[in-house]
Amino acid sequence: MSYDETSGTGEGGEGGDPGGGEAPAYDWRQDPNVPTAESQGYTLGSDPCLDACWDAYYKCLDRGRDPSVCLGDLTACQRGCAERPAPDAGTPAAQPCDQGPCPNCASEFQDSQPCNQALGHGGPHTCVRGHTW
Ligand SMILES: [Zn+2]
Ligand SMILES: [Zn+2]
Repeated sequence: MSYDETSGTGEGGEGGDPGGGEAPAYDWRQDPNVPTAESQGYTLGSDPCLDACWDAYYKCLDRGRDPSVCLGDLTACQRGCAERPAPDAGTPAAQPCDQGPCPNCASEFQDSQPCNQALGHGGPHTCVRGHTW
């Protein structure tokens, strides 16, 4: 009666120990707690005013300042951009045609209906009841 005893050695695992005891220099770009334009959902190039804010913010961080200080400046800058009146109000509100009142409304309904088209329109004037003149 013999039994084969095969005892495999469980040895073989290499104890890899993470080398490197040197702390890398702090890089805010690697810090998940430091907001970036991307993390705040802002696309650089969308607004010159906000771009300048982010640019100043990144420069602030690059100078090694406290991220919370830089962030405070950024927030103030963003607020300034938001409160800044737009340089041009975009498309001006369409002015109503100043020709009126509608003569048909005046005679039939005894009320005064202005032309309901935009100022400077071509063709006949029209009122809300569909008259033309
Ligand atoms: Zn009318
Ligand atoms: Zn008109």
